[in-house]
Amino acid sequence: MQLTARIIDGTALSRRIRAEVAERGAALAVRGVQPGLAMILVGDDPASAVYVRNKVKACNDTGLHSVQERYDASMTEAELLARIAALNADASIHGILVQMPLPKHLDAHRVIEAIAPAKDVDGLSVQSAGQLMAGLPGLRPATPLGCMKMLESTGVPLRGKHAVVIGRSNTVGKPMALLLLQAHATVTVCHSATPDLAAHTRQADIVVAAVGRRHMLRAEMVKPGAIVIDVGINRNEAGKLCGDVDFAGVAEVAGWVSPVPGGVGPMTISMLLSNTLQAAELAAAATHQAP
Ligand code: NDP
Repeated sequence: MQLTARIIDGTALSRRIRAEVAERGAALAVRGVQPGLAMILVGDDPASAVYVRNKVKACNDTGLHSVQERYDASMTEAELLARIAALNADASIHGILVQMPLPKHLDAHRVIEAIAPAKDVDGLSVQSAGQLMAGLPGLRPATPLGCMKMLESTGVPLRGKHAVVIGRSNTVGKPMALLLLQAHATVTVCHSATPDLAAHTRQADIVVAAVGRRHMLRAEMVKPGAIVIDVGINRNEAGKLCGDVDFAGVAEVAGWVSPVPGGVGPMTISMLLSNTLQAAELAAAATHQAP
């Protein structure tokens, strides 16, 4: 295998972002405000438990205050909404995250909408989505925000580039497309009903793969020199973590490619910390200005 692509190292980039979060968080703590993130986990999904554990550890490592609340899958929606209301009113908490997926009897939309917009650090509420859509300041979903930081880290200007986003979920694909548009890329969004995916990706200067299907983006689908960001989280036959991109093949064609693991995963957590810091800084500024 001849590796021509440069690797977009999400772990190294994350380290820099977390160091900055720690520094700004410490500066805020000196003024009496320690950024705080509350995470709610309902049920016993093992993957969700790992995600929350990693987020708690990241908070501890960066000096952010974190609260983890775990509830049985039998928790009622009224009980969950009451917990969110309490956290909305808690001045020591600046970000609230409800780990998805929720047990089926809980309405994810109603739950997300119950989070105070200023504490919506996952950026998934209708208000946050609307702010992104309208190009207004606000909290952006962590995963696409992390992908933007990774793209910026290449130093390649995004203006005028053709970007193809594969996937159109509210958490990744759609906000990703809007952030790229805001960065002046020309954006195509592909999904399961796109008839000839390769015809689109072969023309792309930037490809963001956010599908959840192993090796769905192969070398012959990539334009030489393109930047490829792999959001997917899958397992191969041996149970090993892998993305949506055939990394070995694509690395021979692309100019830049992000690995899995060590790519978007750590960046997502870093941007969640960054959003919590941003929410805390805004809350501190508002308190300062209050008469
Ligand atoms: P969803 O399942 O919500 O969305 C997947 C998208 O892929 C859909 O829009 C779907 O299209 C599209 N799709 C499915 N099959 C094809 C196909 N054959 N060709 C083109 N598009 C297709 O997943 P998410 O957006 O939540 O996540 C995507 C992946 O990213 C998953 O592997 C997830 O685990 C991972 N992820 C990783 C994160 C990280 O931190 N690294 C964070 C969040 C997600 P349609 O809409 O038509 O169904």
